[in-house]
Parts: sequence; C-alpha cells; structure tokens
Amino acid sequence: SDSHFPIPLFPSQFDYSQHYPHFFPASSENASNKKIQFADIGCGFGGLLVSLSTLFPDTLMIGMEIRDKVTEYVKERILGLRATNPGQYQNVSVVRTNSMKYIPNYFEKGQLTKMFFLFPDPHFKEKNHRRRVISPHLLDEYAYALAVGGIIYTMTDVEELGEWMKGCLEDHPMFETLTEEELKADPVVKLLSSATEEGQKVARNGGQTFRAVYRRITPSQ
Ligand code: SAM
Repeated sequence: SDSHFPIPLFPSQFDYSQHYPHFFPASSENASNKKIQFADIGCGFGGLLVSLSTLFPDTLMIGMEIRDKVTEYVKERILGLRATNPGQYQNVSVVRTNSMKYIPNYFEKGQLTKMFFLFPDPHFKEKNHRRRVISPHLLDEYAYALAVGGIIYTMTDVEELGEWMKGCLEDHPMFETLTEEELKADPVVKLLSSATEEGQKVARNGGQTFRAVYRRITPSQ
C-alpha cells in the first residue's frame, strides 16, 4: 500500500540532493536552482529515461513507478551508469509512487515541459475507465503541472486505449495536437517506441502502436 513509500507533502519538500547529488551537492552554496522538467509516468525499467538523459544532459528528469522491485532496478541501473560513465546520467532519477494520486505533491504549477505515458496498463473494462492514467480528471492535473508549450506523449499497443487517450486529449480545452511536421522534427517522438522496453517488445512481435502527442496551451476564451 501507499504507506510503504514516503510522499513529499508538497513539491519543495522533494529531496533534490538525494536524487541529483551532482547538481545539488550536500552542504554547498553552489546548489542548482534546477527543477525536474521531464516526468516518465509508469517508467517501468527506465529505457526511455536512459536515452533521454544523454539527449538532454542539462534537464532533470524522473521516472515514477509503483512497483517496488522495478523502482529498485531502475535506481541500480542509474547508479551503475553513473559509475561507468563519470559525469553522465546525473540528471536522471526514479521514485516509487502512485502517479495517479500524487503528481501535485511532486510538481509545481507549470514546472514540467514533458510528460510521458508510454504503454500504460490498460484497464480494459468499461467500468474501469476512471482507473486509467489518462482521464478527463487527471488531464486537469497534468495540465496544471505542465508549462504552457509543454508536451504530453502517449503510446500504447492497445487500440481501444489509444483511442481513449487521444479522445481525452482532443476534448480537453488545454491541449492541442502536434502537426505531422512537428512530430517529425521532435527527436523524442522516435524514442517512444525504440527506447522503451515495452515498445521494443511490441516491435519484436510485429505489433501495432497507437500514439497521441499533445501540447499544453492556454485555452482560448
Ligand atoms: N513505460 C514503460 C515502457 O514503455 O517500457 C513501462 C510500461 S509497463 C506496461 C507500465 C508500468 O506502469 C508498469 O511498470 C507499472 O508498474 C507502472 N504503473 C502502473 N500504475 C502505476 C501508477 N499508478 N503509478 C506509477 N506507476 C504505475
């Protein structure tokens, strides 16, 4: 249950020095004023984060994962990468949490510039729609955490869920779809399936993926 992992009461309580010691050395006046800008929700084994880390070396990013063992694996993976590649992978970390409940505890208004929802657990049944990680209600929270201009990336191999996520985003007043040109120009889009463990599995099995990528906007009056 949630009682087994500590949750910050509010974003300023989040311990940056524990997650990013290179940027926030203990007992130093040189501590950065950086904040986390990318959040990979349900990060699984962390493949996307590892790729993003070197693509955006100055951006702090975090994976949010509910499974204890998987979170521990990602922690070890990052520590290993830091040890074998001095100076690299300092900008990436992971936290064990229930992202469907605690996003506002971690991020201030407009803090994030990218959020990822890649191959989330589907919860197929009609009555379980409200348990989905993309829903009209949760999109309000994500819109709050995202900066205007920030991007939300979703992908799944479950067609019905793909339609659902796209529909929720399309109907939400604070999101607009990216154009084909914008999608082509964004290097992150290619990583959604190639860098995630789940995307690689789908590709190996010759499966289809369904993508929806939307920008946080200021709603028109
Ligand atoms: N995004 C990764 C990828 O594409 O390889 C992992 C996909 S995996 C199918 C979905 C992950 O979401 C699982 O690791 C699961 O434990 C995690 N998850 C499910 N519900 C969650 C929640 N409420 N909060 C955080 N993580 C969650």
